[in-house]
Amino acid sequence: MKILVVGNGGREHALVWKLKQSERVEKIYVAPGNAGTANLAKNIEIEATDIDKLIKFCKEEKVDLTVVGPEAPLVAGVVDAFEGEGLKVFGPNQAAAQLEGSKVFSKDFMKRYNIPTAKYESFADAKKAIGYIKREGAPIVVKAEGLAAGKGVIVAQTVEEAVAAVEEIMVNEKFGNAGERIVVEEFLEGEEATVLAFTDGQTIVPMIPSQDHKPAYDGDKGPNTGGMGAYAPAPIATEELMAKVYEEILVPTIEGLKKEGIIFKGVLYSGLMIVDGEAKVIEYNVRFGDPEAEVVLPLLKNDLVDIIEAIIEDRLEAVDIEWLNQTSVCVIMASGGYPVAYEKGKEISGIEEAEAEDIIVFQAGTDFKDDKLVTAGGRVLGVTALGNGYQATIDRAYEGVKKIDFADAHYRKDIGAKAVK
Ligand code: ATP
Repeated sequence: MKILVVGNGGREHALVWKLKQSERVEKIYVAPGNAGTANLAKNIEIEATDIDKLIKFCKEEKVDLTVVGPEAPLVAGVVDAFEGEGLKVFGPNQAAAQLEGSKVFSKDFMKRYNIPTAKYESFADAKKAIGYIKREGAPIVVKAEGLAAGKGVIVAQTVEEAVAAVEEIMVNEKFGNAGERIVVEEFLEGEEATVLAFTDGQTIVPMIPSQDHKPAYDGDKGPNTGGMGAYAPAPIATEELMAKVYEEILVPTIEGLKKEGIIFKGVLYSGLMIVDGEAKVIEYNVRFGDPEAEVVLPLLKNDLVDIIEAIIEDRLEAVDIEWLNQTSVCVIMASGGYPVAYEKGKEISGIEEAEAEDIIVFQAGTDFKDDKLVTAGGRVLGVTALGNGYQATIDRAYEGVKKIDFADAHYRKDIGAKAVK
């Protein structure tokens, strides 16, 4: 079968890498892809959000299945548009994607269905928001309602910082429409974990729990990023906790949506804060996480095409999903200065040497310039190792990182440290 993967990050490279292992797949296209996906598939010059062109391409090339990686096209309704044209597509429809597309929707939804989350209020008026912040005090969290590529959340340590965030978002319109409304919520102190789940809207199958590392620097210091590395399984998500997550979060989410006439099909991402052994939802996403995909997909034993088709055809219940009994660690190598200002176009070397040691190098912000592989974004590579035991696997991932070089490369040295502790 012919598959189109939509997106251009490390997550999409991981999806292509996994789909390519399927005996059922004869050709993969990626729109627009990166230099890494170009090694495994055919990149096509269509932006991930250009829904009309994606549809036209799938019709012309007789693509059998489209797999959507990032949130923007899902929130824009790519799935509804494809289905309207009779094209097979994997991901939630626009109504279901509101769980990620609107933080006001998702917070109100959680409140309606008693799904554990931080206490909050939403505001369309900056003065009222500032009044609330002054009454509640700091630390406190300010979030732009809409999509802001992970930058619309400010964890404020002081009231002044929170007020400044409200002004940036609502008065200076830093995130445009995405900041017309905001959520102001209680600061939760705990450890984060990600639980991805496959669902056809009926059956819910949690994947191996993982943990991302959002802040740019070691010890969780510095500004938040798209994610500096991940590992799986996350020991904080014990079997007992996972049972609670299933009962108290996943089932009420899928069932609550159903009560509102929304069937969620695809991958549901629950970003959790674990506080005293209880999980609270920090955010929902409606797709694989990046970098979580880079650690979870390599542990999946099944053919991903089988799972995707079962979800589309409402028969996930009949699929036995199996995982390797191993540990997976991914270290993100980023451009120096990321997530603020950074340069592009630095030549990258050493990927083949790392791959020769069975390291999987997922590419994100990469491109070719004069036939050379160069950096082309903030997060450049996801260097993944599989192994037995956390420390040994962490060591292997960093051995991979050491083989790779580009000017000003920045990576955290403590990915996975929480699992060892
Ligand atoms: P993503 O890029 O993951 O989609 P996002 O912009 O949707 O991010 P959130 O996941 O809501 O933002 O928040 C980003 C990060 O901010 C979280 O991973 C967490 O570290 C921190 N954070 C968010 N809400 C809270 C909270 N209530 N208490 C403490 N920290 C929080």
